[in-house]
Amino acid sequence: MELFDIVIIGAGVIGNAVARELSRKNYTLAVLDKEADAGFGISSRNSGVVHSGIHYTPGSNRAILNIAGNAAMESLCRDLSVPFIRTGKLTIAASQEEQAALHELKEQGEANGVPGMEMMDSATMDQLQPGIAGTEGLYTPSTGIVNPMALTIALAEHAHLHGVSYRFLHKVIRITQVQDSRFQIESETPQGRSALETRMIINCAGMHADTIAKLCGYHQHTIYPCRGEYYVLDKRLDQSLNLLIYPVPGTHSSGLGIHLTKTVEGNILIGPSNEYIADRMDCSTTSEIMEMLKSEGKTLLPTLVTSDFIRSFSGLRPKLTPPDVGGFDDFVIRYQPACDSVIHVLGIESPGLTAAPAIGKKVAEMAHHILPVSEKPWRPDFPDIPGIYRRPYPASMYSLDERKALVDQDPDFGSIICRCEEISLAEVRSALKRMFGPLTYAGIKNRCRPMSGRCQGGFCMPRIAHILNGEWGIPHENHMLKGPDSVLYTGLLRDGE
Ligand SMILES: Cc1cc2nc3c(=O)[nH]c(=O)nc-3n(C[C@H](O)[C@H](O)[C@H](O)COP(=O)(O)OP(=O)(O)OC[C@H]3O[C@@H](n4cnc5c(N)ncnc54)[C@H](O)[C@@H]3O)c2cc1C
Repeated sequence: MELFDIVIIGAGVIGNAVARELSRKNYTLAVLDKEADAGFGISSRNSGVVHSGIHYTPGSNRAILNIAGNAAMESLCRDLSVPFIRTGKLTIAASQEEQAALHELKEQGEANGVPGMEMMDSATMDQLQPGIAGTEGLYTPSTGIVNPMALTIALAEHAHLHGVSYRFLHKVIRITQVQDSRFQIESETPQGRSALETRMIINCAGMHADTIAKLCGYHQHTIYPCRGEYYVLDKRLDQSLNLLIYPVPGTHSSGLGIHLTKTVEGNILIGPSNEYIADRMDCSTTSEIMEMLKSEGKTLLPTLVTSDFIRSFSGLRPKLTPPDVGGFDDFVIRYQPACDSVIHVLGIESPGLTAAPAIGKKVAEMAHHILPVSEKPWRPDFPDIPGIYRRPYPASMYSLDERKALVDQDPDFGSIICRCEEISLAEVRSALKRMFGPLTYAGIKNRCRPMSGRCQGGFCMPRIAHILNGEWGIPHENHMLKGPDSVLYTGLLRDGE
C-alpha cells in the first residue's frame, strides 16, 4: 500500500496553503479531496476580501493569523500571479450607538496592529465614496480584495509543481491507526474504495472538519453551517464603488453585515446574508434573501436597475458556535490530544481566506516539529512553461498595446471565447493544460473566468464544449460541470452536431 509522510484532507485554500508550505521540505505528501478540483468548497464562495484585522479579539488566532495573512498576501499573490488589489475599506456608522461601536473597533484594530486606520466624518467619506450615507466612518487602507478561486488553485498548482500528489474525487470515509505511527485512510472514489497509509494527517476539511476529526477519534467540536447569500452585479457599475463599504456589525451577529464589495475583475457583490441552516451541502439561494439584497442594493447604489443583477450564489460558514449562541468562536488549530501525528484545523470561517498564508505556515511548522525533515530546492513563483499563461490579470484587463503584443506572441489571444469577460482561446487552453484532476467546466471557469459574465455561458459554453470535444477528444456525454454527478449532455440532437 502507498505510504506518505503526510496526508492533508481538503484542497481548499487552507489545505493548499499548508501543502505549499510543506512542499518546501522533503516530505512525501498527498492531498485528498472529495470534489473534482481544488477550491470547490467554501473557498470559492465568499466575498474575496483580505481583511485588515479590526474585527477580531486581540490575541485570538483569528486576529494574529489575519494580520500575518494580510501582510503576506501581496507578495504571495505577486509570486503566484493571482489578482490582488489593496482597495481600502470604510466601515460606516449610521447612528450614535454605532459610532460608539465604531470607536471600539478602532481600539481593537490598534490592539491587533492594523496599520493606517483613520476615523472620518461624513464630508471626508463623501470624497472617498460620493453619495455614501453615514454619520462617521473607520477607514482601513490595508483591506484588499483577491480572486479567491485563483488563489486557492494557484496554491494547489504550486504545491503540485513541487511534488505534492493531489487525489480528487477521494471522499475520506474511514481512518484507522494501523501502527503506533501509521494511519490507514480509506476513501470512496468513482472506481470504488481506495486506501493509502500515512505517518501524519492534517485535517483541513472545512465544513466537514468535525466529521474527519471524529473519524480520527477526536469528538470535541461540532460544525454548524451558517449560509451567506450574495447577488453579483454587472460590471457596468464598476466605477460606482471606489472602495469596500461595510456597516458596523451587530453585537451578536454571526457575520459582518450586508456589505458592498468588489471583485478584482470589477463586479460588485451585495451580501452576504447570515442564516444558520441544517444541511451542510445546501448552497442554494432563496427568493426572500434575494429580494432583501435587491432592496438593500438599490438603497446603497441608487442607479442600480434590475438587469444589473446577473447571478446569485451562497457560501456556508463552518461555525463552531451553535445557532442559539451565534457570534464567533476562534479558529481551532491543534494537535489531537494524545496523538500529535494528527493536526486539526477546524472552524475556519471568515477571515480564513485572509489568514490562509499564515495558517499554512503555522500548520507546516507544527507538522515539522513532529516530523522533521530537510529542505529541498524550492522556488516561490512559477517557472515559465510554454503555452501556460500566468498573469496577474486576465488579458482583457491589459491595455490595447499590451494585448497587441500578446496576440503577436500567440494569435490565440485574439480569438475570443468569452465575449462578456473577453477571455481568449489562449487563456482557456492554458487553463485546461494546468488542470491536474478531472476536466470540468467549473474548473475552467475558476481558472480563467469564462461563463462568469453577463450571459453566464450562453456564448462561451458551446465554444468550450467544442474545444473539449475536438482538441481534447472528450465526447460530449463525458462533459462535466463539477464532477461525475453533473454530466452536462446526454447525447446529440442531430448526427455530428
Ligand atoms: C459567506 C462567506 C463569506 C466569506 N468571506 C470571507 C472574506 O471576505 N474574507 C476572508 O478572509 N474569508 C471569508 N470567508 C471565509 C473563507 O471563505 C473560509 O474561511 C475559507 O475558504 C475556508 O477554507 P477551507 O480550505 O477551510 O475550506 P474549503 O474550501 O471548504 O475546503 C475544504 C475541502 O475539504 C474537502 N472535504 C470535506 N470533507 C471531505 C472528505 N470527507 N474527504 C475528502 N475531502 C473532503 C471539501 O471538498 C473541500 O474542498 C467567507 C466565508 C463565507 C461562507
